[in-house]
Amino acid sequence: MLNLTGVAGWPVAHSRSPEMHSAAFRALGLDDWRYTRLPLPPALFAEAVRALPASGYRGINVTIPHKEAALTVADVSSPAARQIGAANTLTFENGGIAADNTDAQGFLDALGEPLAGRSVLVLGAGGSARAVVWAARQAGASEVLVWNRTNERARSLAADFEAEAVQRPRPVDVLVNTTAVGLGGSLEDLPMADVGQPELVADLVYGRADPPVTAWARGRRARVVGGQEVLVRQGALSFVRWTGQDPPVDLMRDAIREQSEADFMRVRFRH
Ligand code: NAP
Repeated sequence: MLNLTGVAGWPVAHSRSPEMHSAAFRALGLDDWRYTRLPLPPALFAEAVRALPASGYRGINVTIPHKEAALTVADVSSPAARQIGAANTLTFENGGIAADNTDAQGFLDALGEPLAGRSVLVLGAGGSARAVVWAARQAGASEVLVWNRTNERARSLAADFEAEAVQRPRPVDVLVNTTAVGLGGSLEDLPMADVGQPELVADLVYGRADPPVTAWARGRRARVVGGQEVLVRQGALSFVRWTGQDPPVDLMRDAIREQSEADFMRVRFRH
């Protein structure tokens, strides 16, 4: 029987995880492993997930809008998943469902440098901001500020993780964009004038060559960590969780990059 893995979302067609994991399986000679897209509407999520192990599934990634439901459907969960309140990785093992959150550690791995003792400003207060704020607190950031277009959401998130909600940011060492600016909106929607000269900028948005916050950071000579790297690192952690094998991270990164370039060219030649 094949060992199946995949990504459940609604929609899920845009996900680059299949190319990334399939390349990793091929590279390690895991010829009986597959990674599929699982388009699941919210009403079907829990029932469908419970049925997956009997169909040969060993684990799945979970993306929008199912990350909270993934925690609920699990029999056991990691402290990170419980504290963040969301899971992006489910593993079917020992007759049950285990929930993990690799978004948080994946973010820290992508940074590749410590946050201990540094001030961090997180733009955004949605699902990915929760994982980033939790990770920054765990990593010993000296202060974690949260700014959001809708201030009430920033206050609620900050209260959950002993961070500080701000209406007007102060200059910081590290800036993290978790807003959807880059998919829609523009840099003018964000308080860039107040963030000073951060030495490190992580932009979770990916999909275009240089999203606005990434381009802004390059213009200020900050070190930039892009959303693709965060995607690769969370995927690498899911991969090791399911297969027990060392993930070929460089190859996974190449697979994502090739896919992005192919998507970009397709869009360009359509117009
Ligand atoms: P989400 O829960 O929907 O949150 C979206 C956030 O963006 C909210 O804080 C929202 O503010 C803010 N926002 C949206 N449009 C804005 C605008 N024009 N100006 C200012 N703020 C705006 O989404 P999410 O799951 O956190 O994802 C956020 C982004 O991160 C997406 O671009 C997603 O693709 C990316 N992401 C990347 C990875 C990765 O692995 N690289 C993983 C997860 C997510 P309001 O509260 O005011 O609406």
